[in-house]
Amino acid sequence: MSRMVFVNGDLVPEEQATVSVFDHGYLYGDGVFEGIRAYDGKIFRLEEHVDRLYESAHCIMMEIPYTREQMQRAIIDTVKANGLRDAYIRVVVSRGKGDLGMNPKNCPGCQIVIIAGKIAVFPPELYEDGIEAVTVPTRRNVVGALDPRIKSLNYLNNIMAHIEATRAGAREALMLNSEGYVTEGAADNIFVYRRGVLWTPPKYLGILEGITREAVMGLARGEGIPVEESPITRHDIYTGDECFVTGTAAEIMPIVEVDSRVVGTGKPGPVTRRLTELYRELVIEEGTPLE
Ligand code: PMP
Repeated sequence: MSRMVFVNGDLVPEEQATVSVFDHGYLYGDGVFEGIRAYDGKIFRLEEHVDRLYESAHCIMMEIPYTREQMQRAIIDTVKANGLRDAYIRVVVSRGKGDLGMNPKNCPGCQIVIIAGKIAVFPPELYEDGIEAVTVPTRRNVVGALDPRIKSLNYLNNIMAHIEATRAGAREALMLNSEGYVTEGAADNIFVYRRGVLWTPPKYLGILEGITREAVMGLARGEGIPVEESPITRHDIYTGDECFVTGTAAEIMPIVEVDSRVVGTGKPGPVTRRLTELYRELVIEEGTPLE
């Protein structure tokens, strides 16, 4: 059976799910997106993801012609139409078909696509061993240009970071902002546990406000671990006891080496392990049922 893809209100077989070459998402990266996950028949933090999608759209002055409830429904229906209980869901809203000029006024309506499938960004054994990260030359987009809080279709900044890390032989990129503060990974937020405090960069430094990040901060606080959203430098990570990245796709991935400096013991630490355990419980317990 072919995969069913939601395109502007219709669920169509993958082969028929096409977008115009004149779509400004394709021509200019003009649009926004979300990556969402369903676990055991429940969509994790669906409302938060849809809210972020609408906030991103609002910031690029693009009006999505659905209510948030309709969008949630469309996401649920797409997962169900594919008979999935565990899924990775990609929602893409682009400015739509226009002409070759960049003026969004020439795009009469946005293009809404929802794809439900599977994703495995890292082989499972790496969650046991952890991975290496490197600081990459490409800096994170500055807040005053395209704020990284907008999850836009312009992912070249992140793709550059990913390529640079991979070419350097590392699995994860550590992106700094223009002042040299740590921001995030190529598609994940970063945490460092150092001297009894869990640190993560604040959103004003230029990060995506990750939904997994939020969930992990909540779990850590619930465990009595102090959490600080505060600027961190590479030094904090090199000298940290534990480090990990978080994201919908990657979940919680331990970082055991950064720029050839071993972090902590060089193995995923107890705080990372405990938060991973709690996160795995949370995603199964919580969520919007696929009904
Ligand atoms: N930062 C960036 C740049 C991302 O693309 C993602 C993935 N959406 C994240 C962080 C993690 O966000 P979330 O936990 O909401 O998936």
